[in-house]
Amino acid sequence: MKEAIVLKSRREVGLMRDANRIVAETLAILKDMAVAGVTTEELDRAAERNAEKNGARPAFKGYRGFPASICVSINEQVVHGIPNRRVRLKDGDLVSLDFGVEYKGYFGDAAITVVVGGRAGDEKERLVAATRESLERAIAACVVGNRVNDISAAVQDHAEACGFSVVRQFVGHGIGARLHEPPEVPNYRRAERTPKLMAGMTLAIEPMVNAGAFEVKVLRDGWTVVTADGRPSAHFEHTVLVTDGGPEVLSRL
Ligand code: MG
Repeated sequence: MKEAIVLKSRREVGLMRDANRIVAETLAILKDMAVAGVTTEELDRAAERNAEKNGARPAFKGYRGFPASICVSINEQVVHGIPNRRVRLKDGDLVSLDFGVEYKGYFGDAAITVVVGGRAGDEKERLVAATRESLERAIAACVVGNRVNDISAAVQDHAEACGFSVVRQFVGHGIGARLHEPPEVPNYRRAERTPKLMAGMTLAIEPMVNAGAFEVKVLRDGWTVVTADGRPSAHFEHTVLVTDGGPEVLSRL
């Protein structure tokens, strides 16, 4: 049997707002820290500290055995990169910082891609802008009566119009009392009928956009996803609540 989509009560939404505020504040800290010379392990520690300071638990640590609190994915790495004390950021790197917490039984999840030093060359900068904008268009599609496919199409159409491709193998997801809930939220159109959006749905929408082809592979560490062609990738994510009055982005400060 297919698992049902959970619509959140007012109380649950309140807890998810709190969880996502902690995520957003943490990502703001990491964004400021993401300069040339910092190690990805230092970013991980800062995230963990800020979660704990706010009474939250880093959600990724231990999730299916993931060894750290953040996923940090540089350049051709797409998602799920593991922080490392020997890896230092360099000017011109594209760094995806993905973080989630559990707070009083509810989850928040968001990601940003940072250009270290502010300049990364035309293609990488266009890739980051296109990925960010594809998420904004997806959020705008989070309207009661639309379907999940409308979110997927918004991402795909914008990314491809910019000359880039969307990852197929990893998708966004429902979120709530669990980090990953139904429905799946792909970044590409599917042929089958997808669920209708209803008030009270909470979705983690996360476009992963590649400069080259959409194919990806997983490195031998069992986690790090990289583009198959070695070209750069960008990733943004927000947790979004569908309401009768339109989308509310829970993970935006
Ligand atoms: Mg996610």
